[in-house]
Amino acid sequence: MLKVSQLTKSFGDQEVLHGLTTSFPDHQTTVILGPSGSGKSTLLRSLNFLERPESGHYDFDGENLDWSQPIGNATILQIRRHTEMVFQGYNLFPHLSVLKNITEGPIHVLHHEKAAAQTEARQLLAKVGLADKANEYPSQLSGGQSQRVAIARSLAMHPEYIFLDEPTSALDPELELGVLKVLLQIAKEKQSMIIVTHNLAFARQVADKILFVENGHILFDGPNQDFFGTQNQRILDFISAMT
Ligand code: ADP
Ligand code: MG
Repeated sequence: MLKVSQLTKSFGDQEVLHGLTTSFPDHQTTVILGPSGSGKSTLLRSLNFLERPESGHYDFDGENLDWSQPIGNATILQIRRHTEMVFQGYNLFPHLSVLKNITEGPIHVLHHEKAAAQTEARQLLAKVGLADKANEYPSQLSGGQSQRVAIARSLAMHPEYIFLDEPTSALDPELELGVLKVLLQIAKEKQSMIIVTHNLAFARQVADKILFVENGHILFDGPNQDFFGTQNQRILDFISAMT
């Protein structure tokens, strides 16, 4: 279980997250919803220490960190070992083949044998529907294919959690579908995930838990069915504006 409490984050003198307390259950998918500028990315980046909150507690795997205290690089690296971030822009290595993009981390960070890493990479490529792309380069792939490679690459690291920040917002709808199908499959296999998305139909399909964030506050924190069955007028307005 990954938990945060009283997470507060400012940029300059603008406080953008106002003391958030929530948890992200393992083997479940938590979807973060909310209007643009509400702090969703900042929250996700804080969980991976890409942003540094001024205060609050971070609790993961028995490790309890106080953001108001100094946190060593070794601790941050150790936490990042257990989490993988998938970005909107894929961030594939352009000079490496698809297969090498996936095996880099397992070979150089996890110290897996090259042959074993390649075997697993091919299995993961098959899982994301790209078995025939192992020897191609990122520039030869569509956006949807690139994002599926990025997902395969994150799975190859066997993270406890995968964080995805609007993983399909750069894609045309027909390419988006392939990526969403892969994520639904991974969710079914109980990979712990936290996904920021604007796609409400997908959120409804994939989420175990929903967080609705607005203006740096959590307005809803609970099971999928309760969110989509809510009577809260602000959430109803958000849902109807998005559909
Ligand atoms: P969301 O992902 O929900 O659209 P963000 O987390 O990106 O929201 O942004 C929340 C607020 O923080 C916004 O007002 C945004 O302008 C501000 N913000 C985000 N990143 C930075 C930054 N690096 N420097 C200054 N302000 C930022
Ligand atoms: Mg964002």
